Amino acid sequence: MSSNEATITLPNNKTIKTPTGLFINNEFVDSVDGKRFETINPTTEKIITTVAEASEKDVDMAVDAADKAFNEVWRNSTGAQRCKLLNKLSDLMERDLDELAALESLDNGKTYKDSKDDVSDSIEVYRYYSGWCDKIHGKTFESQKKFSYTRHEPIGVCAAIIPWNFPLLMQAWKLGPALACGNTVVLKSSEYTPLTALKVAALIKEAGFPKGVVNILSGYGKPTGSAMAYHNNIGKIAFTGSTATGKYILKASSESNLKKVTLELGGKSPNIIFADADLEEAVKWAHEGIFYNHGQCCCAGSRIYVENSVYDKFIDKFKEQTEKIKIGDPFNSDTYQGPVVSKAQFDRVMGYIETGKKEGATCLIGGDRHGTEGYFIKPTIFTDVKEEMTIMQEEIFGPVVAISKFNTIEEVIEKAHMTTFGLAAAVFTKDISRAFKISNELKSGTVWVNLYNTFNTYSPFGGYKQSGIGRELGKYALKEYTQVKNVQINLDMTA
Ligand code: NAD
Repeated sequence: MSSNEATITLPNNKTIKTPTGLFINNEFVDSVDGKRFETINPTTEKIITTVAEASEKDVDMAVDAADKAFNEVWRNSTGAQRCKLLNKLSDLMERDLDELAALESLDNGKTYKDSKDDVSDSIEVYRYYSGWCDKIHGKTFESQKKFSYTRHEPIGVCAAIIPWNFPLLMQAWKLGPALACGNTVVLKSSEYTPLTALKVAALIKEAGFPKGVVNILSGYGKPTGSAMAYHNNIGKIAFTGSTATGKYILKASSESNLKKVTLELGGKSPNIIFADADLEEAVKWAHEGIFYNHGQCCCAGSRIYVENSVYDKFIDKFKEQTEKIKIGDPFNSDTYQGPVVSKAQFDRVMGYIETGKKEGATCLIGGDRHGTEGYFIKPTIFTDVKEEMTIMQEEIFGPVVAISKFNTIEEVIEKAHMTTFGLAAAVFTKDISRAFKISNELKSGTVWVNLYNTFNTYSPFGGYKQSGIGRELGKYALKEYTQVKNVQINLDMTA
């Protein structure tokens, strides 16, 4: 077995072979300096395996490979060819769904059931964008003496930097539209969850994508991600992660070659529950809104505002629902919540819980670690949380919710806007006029009415304010991966 393939044993003693090298030019290779890093199972705190770590030189090599593939092959590919390859990749992911899901749960700590959903959702994204490959057209403009037309051309080499909370899905959100539009890609996975990106890389090769079209690197923010952000031969960078890193990427673009930048960043999304809402439904969705994926969702409904007259009733029901959460091994079928992804994330979330207590919020339940091994945190509810408190302002990215009450629609809109974020929001009410009014008022990229955390491949996703720039998913994403050329032709050479 080469050093660039590992055999990984699952909790059920089944084994999976998976690549661990850098994927450049359709080969899994060592990094130039031979460096590797460990990836840890958050359930056991034990090492799963090591993967190659990309240096700046490896980034250069991956970009060169992508540039060559773009100029020599991919830019001249037909939509039908790209469509076929994306569909072939989807077929292979369907074939290997169980293995991909198992690796994701092992590396990330999310439940095996949720990982399977993530694989299915990723496949849906690739299939959706396969359908766009031959439908990316420009427009024509005619006058008596002139004919002009636009071409929606690919940008060239696109970089993608993704986080650890939805490794497979974030890979699909970036690769799907980038490849459909005819770009080549260098993607960096998160240092916490490198495994499934490499497994998909093997499937990309098997599907028959020409070498260099997709290159996948494992590595840290610095030097790997930073080298990509500053690279002069990358035309566009699509980033998902924290707002702080997003600002760094934007700065790197302006200090290098002004590469186009799209950013999907953090959130502190308000979930507003009016007294006329169906309370059972509101509790169900609010619960899913914050505790799904252990609260590690950029759009998590981490601030819940409940109208005063039903506040106590809501709190009772919400608490009751939260107490039912089964924490444990992600591979157990009855587990709802596994560990958070890493020691760093565990410490960060526990730090916020301590701050919440110190600043005077009431910790209704949770507020502590679960068990003695693994990065498990009890689902935590804070009540009586004031707007100025840290846990109401900053993104915690864990199973922690801040709840407070309101009296009027004006008051709750004002409170909803009191953070620097604007990714998502939700409102629960049976009053359709109020739902419209508040949806129009809220400064956020997504507003859910009487539900939470629902996504469609065809609907755009992205942030207002400091939650991001640009949109992913749907037709909107195609704009972010193409540039428009206008060609003007003189039809009357005598004029
Ligand atoms: P992060 O910003 O630390 O890391 C995200 C990615 O950026 C990783 O691959 C990391 O290696 C890389 N990175 C870090 N520093 C870098 C640098 N200086 N230059 C280039 N790359 C760098 O975020 P995280 O902790 O991995 O993820 C959690 C954050 O991501 C949360 O804030 C969450 O809200 C956000 N997020 C947003 C969305 C969205 O769609 N809006 C989705 C998922 C996660």
